[in-house]
Amino acid sequence: MKYISTRGKAPKLDFDDVLLTGLARDGGLYLPETWPTFSADEISAMKDMSYADVAVKVMLPFVEGSVDEADLRKIVVETYAVFEGDDPAPVVKLGDNEYVLELFHGPTLAFKDYALQFLGHMFDHVLAKRGATLTIVGATSGDTGSAAIEACRDRDAIEIFILHPEGRVSEVQRRQMTTVLSDNVHNIAIKGNFDDCQNTVKALFADEEFRDAVNLSAVNSINWARIMAQVVYYFWAYLKVMDQGKPITFSVPTGNFGNVFAGYVAKQMGLPIGRFVVGANANDILVRFFETGRMESQTVVETSSPSMDIQISSNFERYMFEMLDRDADALCALMDEFKATGSFAVSPELLDRIKGFIDAERFDDEATAKLIGKVYADANYLLDPHSAIGVGAAGARRGDPTVPIVALATAHPAKFPDTVKAASGVHPQLPDFLSDLLEREERSHTLDNSYACVKNYIEEMLKGRHKI
Ligand SMILES: *Cc1c(COP(=O)(O)O)cnc(C)c1O
Repeated sequence: MKYISTRGKAPKLDFDDVLLTGLARDGGLYLPETWPTFSADEISAMKDMSYADVAVKVMLPFVEGSVDEADLRKIVVETYAVFEGDDPAPVVKLGDNEYVLELFHGPTLAFKDYALQFLGHMFDHVLAKRGATLTIVGATSGDTGSAAIEACRDRDAIEIFILHPEGRVSEVQRRQMTTVLSDNVHNIAIKGNFDDCQNTVKALFADEEFRDAVNLSAVNSINWARIMAQVVYYFWAYLKVMDQGKPITFSVPTGNFGNVFAGYVAKQMGLPIGRFVVGANANDILVRFFETGRMESQTVVETSSPSMDIQISSNFERYMFEMLDRDADALCALMDEFKATGSFAVSPELLDRIKGFIDAERFDDEATAKLIGKVYADANYLLDPHSAIGVGAAGARRGDPTVPIVALATAHPAKFPDTVKAASGVHPQLPDFLSDLLEREERSHTLDNSYACVKNYIEEMLKGRHKI
């Protein structure tokens, strides 16, 4: 499989190069040149397969030419073995034709583990084959950092540096990062906010000399391999609720649009998905875009679902590229306009196409808390604030009640104990393997919000580890 950039000016790459590159050199995002497809019979034949077997089936066409089937199987089996229980992604029934897909049974209790754990193993495999090393740098407002650290810890060929805004991530989230004491893990607390962290990371990627010298790579959802790994659980959930090949609906709490885009990929591959419902918090750039046809960023507001506190949904670029019939020039024109003016608008015809099978709904913190309380009272089921937005959006845009709807639960309620307790009266318990998290030793290095400071720190650390 070859991969092309949404901006049309970067070289075509194979899967292993896309994995290591992350963002394309022309600023675009990589996508497979064609969508592999499965027939209805091929899909029903997956019904009784294990999660690992479904994962191999779904991902093999995307890695063709880079990773063979035996290696992919080994990577997938190792990846999902660390997830709790026999079923890494249980589908739980909430009501008639209403389900929750629990994506919080990985090591950091958020859905990002499903892709990042896989990415860690895949990096190892490709780097070992090449005898190469990699430096990962990322910014986090919470979940991504811990999932990335957990995925890369103790891997010889990888050094990972994660920047978080000092004092602005929850205690559980911070400790999930800073209590990992592995030598290749470097937590940096920045005296600034999340955007400061993000800007520093972007500047490091723009510094081509540095980027090449340290083999810089990204773990945010611009990396195609993450999207690819997320496609698997859409197949998995469909296979659990399928009824003679009839289409189903998915509801997805959304930030960067990576998770929804993975669902779109599953649909392109032939999975019978009729509709998507997208749930947003007060940072509702997508909902406003769907209402008005104008994409316009505003300042980020803090909510009780911090992993969705995002104003620019970077993966939406992949979806726009598809809706523009992969016209890279047309996409570049919109992206340039957005960069220059902070907004762009699409024609009513294009908007209709974009909204063709997607509905969007927003929930503020008060509505989110009510949802947590109501679902606990009605179904005795405890949701975290992000998952509550998914379930709430499913309810608000239910459509035909005979069509099964699956809401993605993206985090464990114990990651957000205060919000969940206030909304439901119940204090959610951390699973046993994390129960001593609040007593564990932490390690983190505080730096000023300065590009030079961060770059210098990374270089010093890499020298100490003989990586440059
Ligand atoms: C990252 C995250 C989201 C948003 O997912 P996107 O792929 O960025 O749309 C939702 N919920 C949780 C818990 C997350 O960590």
